[in-house]
Amino acid sequence: MSQDTKLLDTASAVMISEEAQGCWDEVQTAGSIVITAHRSPDGDAVGSVLGLHHHLKSQGILSTVILPDRFPEFLDWMPGAQSVVIYDEETETAQQKLNEADIIWCLDFNGLDRVGKMEEALRTAGGKKWVIDHHQQPDAFADRLFSDPACGSTCELVSDLIIGWGQADKLTTEAMMCLYVGIMTDTGSFRFPSVTAHTHEVLAMFLNNGLKHAPIHQNTFEQQSLNRVQLQGFAVSERLYIWNEVGLAVIGLKYDDLDRFNYQSGDTEGLVNKALALKGIRVAIMAREAEPGLIKLSLRSIGEFSVRDIAAAEFDGGGHMNAAGGISKGMSMESFLAHIESRLGAWFEADTSK
Ligand code: 5GP
Ligand code: MN
Repeated sequence: MSQDTKLLDTASAVMISEEAQGCWDEVQTAGSIVITAHRSPDGDAVGSVLGLHHHLKSQGILSTVILPDRFPEFLDWMPGAQSVVIYDEETETAQQKLNEADIIWCLDFNGLDRVGKMEEALRTAGGKKWVIDHHQQPDAFADRLFSDPACGSTCELVSDLIIGWGQADKLTTEAMMCLYVGIMTDTGSFRFPSVTAHTHEVLAMFLNNGLKHAPIHQNTFEQQSLNRVQLQGFAVSERLYIWNEVGLAVIGLKYDDLDRFNYQSGDTEGLVNKALALKGIRVAIMAREAEPGLIKLSLRSIGEFSVRDIAAAEFDGGGHMNAAGGISKGMSMESFLAHIESRLGAWFEADTSK
């Protein structure tokens, strides 16, 4: 047996529950299927919805992909990206599709409050909601819930489901490209602690099936506009605030800063990691003034320090222990930074992760 075959066999050995197996029987007879994900969709959200969509299509099963709002420009190249129905832009079409659906796959989110303005339409839709997700503490809205907070990405969970259905060898290049994107982006290019040997087995199976990975990295990370590169340089040079005594770094971009560099959605993606990469820093926050009085936050940490707890308790958000998001309302950037300063004691006093 060649080594390649061994790897494929290992990945093929994913065991899924009877309930997950049953999904396959039901999708085949469903009249109408919608696949959706959370608002401000990231690589894992877009990758998982499109990956599942392409796989079902290759098996003769049609589905409509609906996302609450537009995904970042750097994901435009993904196969099928142009066919996504954006709820904020095509609300009537999206509502109609949601109402008609027998099955609504809900990928990469753990609560109905994660889909923005689409919340009511999704809540009242009569179709069965099948959730595949890796966020902690999922709300009780799923008719079927496949949740694994230990898993690094929803795309890995979708891959496991397809492997568990016995269809690994039926994965098309398009489906694998999309699933690879989510595994890559949600694991910081395969480096976070959530990456396991199994993650690499899934990736190896994709490569054994003929996937070319290098163009995926290039399309996602190396097609940046000059404005984006300059905005990121400016942010690090002019808008970085450091509290060395607690190991915290904050990047605070004001509305005017974003305007100056003609900000497009996705332009600050990854910026928080530049702050986290600093020596001695183990908690980083990227704060972006989306409109006066509304600051969007990306929080990251290294080790046991939970940014999810801070995001959930103080910034109307959530996420994972080491990667979370949220918002701050009613503060200018200056007052937000002063607010952070005032919270340092509470956040770091009880911190035993140092
Ligand atoms: P990012 O900083 O990349 O936008 O988000 C990091 C993580 O936090 C992602 O897993 C995302 O799902 C989660 N997240 C981001 N914004 C929010 C939010 O407003 N609410 C909740 N519950 N999670 C969020
Ligand atoms: Mn995810």
